Amino acid sequence: MATDPVCGMQIKPEDAVASEQHDGTTFYFCSEACHQTFLKDPHRYGHQGH
Ligand SMILES: [Zn+2]
Ligand SMILES: [Zn+2]
Repeated sequence: MATDPVCGMQIKPEDAVASEQHDGTTFYFCSEACHQTFLKDPHRYGHQGH
């Protein structure tokens, strides 16, 4: 299972509506809306560290 970083939903990667690579990590999203929110500000949602 993967966690949608925007809404926190647990999703299977194969069921994800969208995915995005960022800093070598692939993030999975439950909806295109979550994907777009992530793209606007990936460091708010994506991860700690930089
Ligand atoms: Zn980053
Ligand atoms: Zn979501």
